[in-house]
Amino acid sequence: MPGGPADFGSLLLSPPVLAGLEAAGFHRPSPVQLKAIPLGRCGLDLIVQAKSGTGKTCVFATIALEAVLLESPATQILVLAPTREIAVQIHAVITTIGIKMEGLECHVFIGGTPLSQDRSRLKKCHIAVGSPGRIKQLIELDYLSTASVRLLVLDEADKLLEEGSFQEQIK
Ligand code: ADP
Repeated sequence: MPGGPADFGSLLLSPPVLAGLEAAGFHRPSPVQLKAIPLGRCGLDLIVQAKSGTGKTCVFATIALEAVLLESPATQILVLAPTREIAVQIHAVITTIGIKMEGLECHVFIGGTPLSQDRSRLKKCHIAVGSPGRIKQLIELDYLSTASVRLLVLDEADKLLEEGSFQEQIK
């Protein structure tokens, strides 16, 4: 509506993503979503900094879902998170917003689960979410191919790149 508050429809999102946002109960973008989603969709490299709870996870989840080509089984989006709990939460947000995308495969890769399970999940995995250590291991084992990755997300980049944490693995 001209002059009215912006809704997700004004961000020119695809119908399935828009329907997923609606189904998740997200009707209006938060300020950070309004600013960052269009820039991310244009393919710009972004550093998105805002307080916890302002909707940043939904920013990269939406950008990631819009970037996925469902026709290909290859891993196209890689999301790194500093803890297992955060990785699991991110996976939940992506699958919730992606609920209307038929055939979407998004999986979590963290330590403490069998590598054989990861290997079979990676046969078709559009979006991989995980901890730096496990993701690095899967790349080294050639279970995870980065050849088709078009978007890399570092969630809580300050923590991920902290001195003495995951710096080496991320490099
Ligand atoms: P952050 O990553 O910045 O900490 P989240 O993306 O986790 O924030 O969002 C915080 C909370 O707000 C979550 O419970 C999420 O479901 C909710 N939320 C995010 N965006 C919206 C929105 N546009 N409308 C309604 N709720 C939202």
